[in-house]
Order: sequence, then structure tokens, then C-alpha cells
Amino acid sequence: MRHLPILLLAGALFLTLSACSPRVKLFEKSNMMMGTFIQITVVSASEKTADEALEAGFAEVKRLEDIFSIYRENTEFSEISRMAGIKPVSIGPESYELIMRGLEIGHLTEEGFNMAVGPAVRLWKVTESSRIPSEAELARIMPLVDPTKVILDPSKRTVFLKEKGMVLDPGGIAKGYTADKVEAVLKRKGIKSGIVAMAGDLKLFGKKPGGKEWRVAIKHPRKPGETLATLDLTDEAVSTSGDYERFFMKDGVRYHHILVPETLQPARECQSVTVVAPDGTTADALSTGIFVMGPRKGLALAERLPGIGAVIVDKDGNVLVSSSLRKRIHFE
Ligand code: AMP
Ligand code: MG
Repeated sequence: MRHLPILLLAGALFLTLSACSPRVKLFEKSNMMMGTFIQITVVSASEKTADEALEAGFAEVKRLEDIFSIYRENTEFSEISRMAGIKPVSIGPESYELIMRGLEIGHLTEEGFNMAVGPAVRLWKVTESSRIPSEAELARIMPLVDPTKVILDPSKRTVFLKEKGMVLDPGGIAKGYTADKVEAVLKRKGIKSGIVAMAGDLKLFGKKPGGKEWRVAIKHPRKPGETLATLDLTDEAVSTSGDYERFFMKDGVRYHHILVPETLQPARECQSVTVVAPDGTTADALSTGIFVMGPRKGLALAERLPGIGAVIVDKDGNVLVSSSLRKRIHFE
């Protein structure tokens, strides 16, 4: 389970706000949901408006968790896997959009991002066990980890997994998607400025009173509790994928939760990948996909895509920053 790969400097923000505008306050609430730590922060002059917005924000997280979870029986995503190899499943607009975006980012990342990796994630269970699956076990499920066997039908709004045993895992994209949806809810509730932080997937909107951007810190992947760098952002999303939150060590080797679809082994080229994008869905899926692609190809992809920035820590601890972020990143 990942916990806050990106730390919000909320205390510092509060002091700044109080100094510039005595009427406006920062309100925040946190909760464990979607198996992770979620913190929503809003700027408001009214406690009532803020409370209502925070409540509506968490209700939206719950609504989406009830659709996307693969750890509970009665969700759309569980039904999709249950019907694998049997029949197409009617899905709501959220699942459809999530899968479609996931497949698109799969193409962009040369299938480094691949939601069909579900059977391998289940086999590894890195947060529960420290057992390394055998080559034979991985070979058996390899044909199931194939995005060309995920069939979306836009006219009927269905999805069909062509082979029995396939599992669509939304873990690499659903938090960023949820952050986007929660932001929309907060705005509908009259909030003009805030942060939705789903562990390492953040959506930031509006500015601090006084016109400054939000400051987020990227965790150091090998020094727990330390910051690698900070970024000032607004009306953007930022996601970090790292090998340091959900992992186990065996014989000095780190086994973690981001898998290379071609080998079904943990991706070895990066320690962490932070992606800045206009929306949370893109930032989340791209950070996972670039982690798999590795620093060279991943950085080249970030340079090619408009509105995308990346900070990559490679396997040796070298930090690579895409040109769009070079002037915006601050090292301690
Ligand atoms: P993130 O922390 O956003 O990088 O997502 C990691 C999670 O995505 C894992 O815990 C798995 O549930 C899932 N996952 C693992 N490998 C991949 C992959 N290659 N493509 C898509 N999702 C993945
Ligand atoms: Mg991700």
C-alpha cells in the first residue's frame, strides 16, 4: 500500500493563508478509502460550505470505490472479471471511460501500462506475502495479460475479456481518475481552490489566496521521510509511482508492485516516476506506464506529449527532469 509518496506541506500553507487573508481558511479532512490514505483540502470563507464540499467529495470517492474495487464481490470491475471468457458486461460511463483511457495510455507507453496485468498482481500479492511466483506459474497466466483481449463496445457500452481468468486491475489509474471526479464535485459545491490527494495521486486546482501556486513535495525514494524536490503547481495533477511503498525484500532484491507486462517481474529500471499532467487520470496511468518503460524511453515520451512533465529517479538514483519542469522544480 502506498502512503503519501508526495507530501503536502499543509501546515505551511495554512500559515501563509492566514497571513494574507484572515477571512479565508483551509479546511481539510482525511480518510482511509480505496485501500489508501485520502486527504481533501479546500479553501473557503465559510465553514459550512467547506464541510458540505468535503462530505460530497468523500461521498464521490465511496461511489467510485463501489464501482472500481476488485477486492469486493458486488462491483462492476469484479463482474467484468467474473464474466471473462463468458460474455460482455454492461458497464456505467465511469468504468467505460476508465478502461478506454487505460487502453489509450497503454498504446502511448508501448503497453507498459496494461490493466490486464491483474492475474499477475494477484499471484505476486506483494503486500501480503513474500513469495516469488515460479516461472511456470507466470508462464501459465502470461496469455491472459493481453490488452488486445479487452474488447470495448461503445454502442452497447460493454466490456468483454476474451479469456477466462483475465482480471482488469484499475490500481494504476483509478486514484487519478477519482481525484479528477472529486475535484469536479468540489467545484460544483462552490469551491474554487483545493487539493485532492489520493496517496501519491494529487489534483490541485485554483491558487492560494495571494495568487501563489500549491507546493508539493516529491518523496526521496531511498531516504524515508526526506524530500527529493518540490514543485509549484495549479490546475494540474501530479502522480508518483515508486518501488518503495509496496514491496518485500528477499536475498537483497526488492520485489514491488509495478510489473513489466512482458515478463510479469517487478520493473527494475526506476526507483520512482513523478508525472505532471493536466488531469489526474493521465498523470496516474502515465507514471505507472513510464515506470515500466524505464528512464530513457519514458523521458522521451514525456518530452513528446504536450502538457506532460516527468521527474524520474533511475535505478542508480540519478534524477532526470523533463524540459518542461526544469525551471519549475526546486531541489532542497
Ligand atoms: P501506481 O502506484 O499508480 O503506479 O499503480 C500500481 C498498481 O497498478 C499496482 O499495485 C497494480 O495494482 C497495478 N499495476 C501493476 N503493474 C501494472 C502495469 N504494468 N500496468 C498497469 N497497472 C499495473
Ligand atoms: Mg499510476
